[in-house]
Amino acid sequence: MNRKILVVEDSLTFRNYLEQLLTQVGYQVFAAKNIAEANAVLLNEPDLLCCVLDYCLPDGQDGEVIELALTHNHKVIVLTALFNPELRENMLAKGVVDYLLKDSTASVSYILPLVQRLEKNQQHKCLVVDDSQMVRNHVVQLLEHQYISTTQAEHGSEALAQLESDPNITFVITDHDMPEKDGVSMIRDIRQTRDRNQLPILGLSATDDATLTAQFLKAGANDFLNKPFNPEEFYCRVHQILDMKEATNELYRMANQDALTGLWNRRYLFNQACEGCSERNIAMLDIDHFKQVNDNYGHDGGDTALVTVAKILSLYFPNDIVARFGGEEFCIQACGEFESFTRRLDKLRQRIEKTTITHNHTAIKLTISIGVATVQSSLDQQIKLADDRLYQAKEAGRNRVIFN
Ligand code: GH3
Ligand code: MG
Ligand code: MG
Repeated sequence: MNRKILVVEDSLTFRNYLEQLLTQVGYQVFAAKNIAEANAVLLNEPDLLCCVLDYCLPDGQDGEVIELALTHNHKVIVLTALFNPELRENMLAKGVVDYLLKDSTASVSYILPLVQRLEKNQQHKCLVVDDSQMVRNHVVQLLEHQYISTTQAEHGSEALAQLESDPNITFVITDHDMPEKDGVSMIRDIRQTRDRNQLPILGLSATDDATLTAQFLKAGANDFLNKPFNPEEFYCRVHQILDMKEATNELYRMANQDALTGLWNRRYLFNQACEGCSERNIAMLDIDHFKQVNDNYGHDGGDTALVTVAKILSLYFPNDIVARFGGEEFCIQACGEFESFTRRLDKLRQRIEKTTITHNHTAIKLTISIGVATVQSSLDQQIKLADDRLYQAKEAGRNRVIFN
C-alpha cells in the first residue's frame, strides 16, 4: 500500500515535527520548505497517499501550493496559522480533506489519525442509496475525496440486490423516502442477516419529521444525519462508523485467531461449526514427539515448526476450518465425502513427513498423527471420537491416519 506523504512547511521546527510524527509510524515523508521544492516532489512522485500543506509559504502566500497539489489529483490536508471561516469553506468545497489550525497541539495531533483514516479508507466501499441523482453524486464525491470507493442504488430493493451480489460493500449510506422500498424497511431487511458491526448504516433524510431519527435507529441504523449537512459533520459521522467497524473486526480477530500461527482457535471452531450437516468430518492432528523438538532446538525452534505445520495445513485445506486446538494439536472441520477427506489427510501426513523445517541453519524433521471421525450426535462427541482415534494412532507407532 502507498505510504508516501508530501509535507510542505516553511518553519523548520514544525516541518521536522511533522516529519518525525509521520515517519515514526512508518510513513515515507518527502519534506519541502517551499513551492519550488514541493513541485519537484510532485513531478517525481505521482503516487502519494496525501499532502500536508502549509497555506502560506515564502514563494506563495495565498494557498498556491494547494492548487498545485490539487491539479496533480492528490488528497490535501491544509495547515494554516490564520482562522478564516470563508477561506475554510472555500478550501473544503475544492475537495481539500481537512483544514487544520496550527495554533494548538490538539489540532496538530489530529493530523496522524486523519492520515491513518485516509489510508484505511481504501479498504472501504460504500453503497449510496438515494432516489435523487444529485444527492447521490454529492455523497459519492465527498466519499471519493477521502479514498472511499462507492456504488449506487436508486431505492431499497435495488440496494438489497447489490448487497447480495457485491461482497466488497463495507457500509451503507441511505435516504428514507424512496420509491419501491424506503430506507427504514430496507434497513430492517438488512438487519435480518447482518448486524451493526458487520455492515454499518448511516441514515440521511431531508424530512422535518422528528420521529424519523428514532425510526432509523430502531430499524438498526448506526447513525443518522439530516440533509442538508455540512461536509465536516458528514466526515465525522462516517469516520466514527468506520472506526467502530474496524475496532470490532479487530476484537473479533483477536478473540478467534491464534496469535502464533494465525489459524482459527478452538472458540471459533465451536462457534462456526457446521450444524445439521450430515457430511461434517472432523480430524484431530497432533505433532509426534514435539517435546523433543523443543528440547533439541529450543522453544523458538518449536514455534517455527508450529508455524510451518500450520501453513501446510492451510495449504492442504484452504476451504475448510483449520484451527489450532492448543499446544501442538490442530483440528480440521471439512464437509464432504469422508473417504476423500481421509485421502487428503494422508497426503498431508506424507507432505509433513517430507518437509524440512530450517531454524537457525539447522534442519528440523517432524511427523504427525491423525484421528478422523464422521458426524456424530454432537460436535463434542465427534471430536472425542477423533481424539480417541488420534490416541490409537500414537499407540500404533505414530505418523499415521486412523479413521475407523
Ligand atoms: P506425542 O507424540 O505423544 O504427542 O508427544 P509430544 O511430545 O508431542 O506430546 P506432549 O503433549 O508430551 O508435549 C507437547 C509439547 O508441546 C509440550 C509443550 O511444551 C509444547 N508446546 C505447547 N505449546 C507450545 C508452543 O506454543 N510453542 C512451543 N515451542 N512449544 C509448545
Ligand atoms: Mg504431540
Ligand atoms: Mg499433545
